[in-house]
Amino acid sequence: MGFLGLFTLHKPKIKVESTKKDGFSGWVKCTKCEEMIHANELQENHNCCPKCGHHYRLSAAQRIELLADEETFQELFAEISPEDPLNFVDSEPYVERLAKAQSKMGRNEAILTGKCKLGGKSAALGVLDFGFMGGSMGSVVGEKITLLIEHAIKKKLPVILVSASGGARMQESIYSLMQMAKTSAALAKLHNAGIPFISVLANPTTGGVTASFASLGDIIIAEPDALIGFAGPRVVEQTIRQKLPETAQKSEFLLEKGMIDCIVSRGELKEKLIFFIEFLMGNKKLPIRPEKKVEREKLDDLITFSQKEREKNAIKVSQT
Ligand SMILES: [Zn+2]
Repeated sequence: MGFLGLFTLHKPKIKVESTKKDGFSGWVKCTKCEEMIHANELQENHNCCPKCGHHYRLSAAQRIELLADEETFQELFAEISPEDPLNFVDSEPYVERLAKAQSKMGRNEAILTGKCKLGGKSAALGVLDFGFMGGSMGSVVGEKITLLIEHAIKKKLPVILVSASGGARMQESIYSLMQMAKTSAALAKLHNAGIPFISVLANPTTGGVTASFASLGDIIIAEPDALIGFAGPRVVEQTIRQKLPETAQKSEFLLEKGMIDCIVSRGELKEKLIFFIEFLMGNKKLPIRPEKKVEREKLDDLITFSQKEREKNAIKVSQT
């Protein structure tokens, strides 16, 4: 029996599935640019449209294949599976919804957690899968994230979490909301241990996931044109009685407003993550562009100047 009786521990039933199986056949029409693209071409391009660059969804397994060095991903905490503490029934019982999602996805929860190497560097990696009940965060998702962070603290590994989620899992009500505080507290411990956390936001990242761990990255990276927000646009419009601009809640808008640090397209994501890990773990210095180099003399001038300024201001203050 697990924490508060919310889940049980048993042997893992499912291994990480290989994504080599080609689910497509023939041509598909890009929903963004409406060009015809071949399924193979789409797959080779990490599920991004080769014509317009639109980023289609990746499953957790595909994401791991994209990011982790080949055959280095080792799943952790796979044995934890969800229960139904509230005997929740909406249009159908939660237990039935869970069973359907589990058989569809071949996995017992909406997140894959484990350790792997990126460019030879070890990291703790967690990936939410939107295909499993909208990537929603219930007790098990929160618990697995927390365990992953605690593992990372113990092993001094940088943490990368990739989010694609509709938010908290409503079928677990308050238990699901509690995961926001739990994951945030675990990240605070990680921060105190001086270990970096990089948050990657994929389309869509919303609700309680945005409002907790996903927004707490030392570096927050978003994929292009991803929907990122707390409440959906319709709810916001009803609340503030104003029409939102079409670009609101998109990565580009959030970058402009300073909510995220950078937008990285999928093809460059791994390379960027490796750079940030090396930089934050103290193994890499930022490249200094020659034109940005301040000569020693100029620097001295600047310091002297600011000292003079300060003295002048100090006099002003003492005179008044
Ligand atoms: Zn396209």
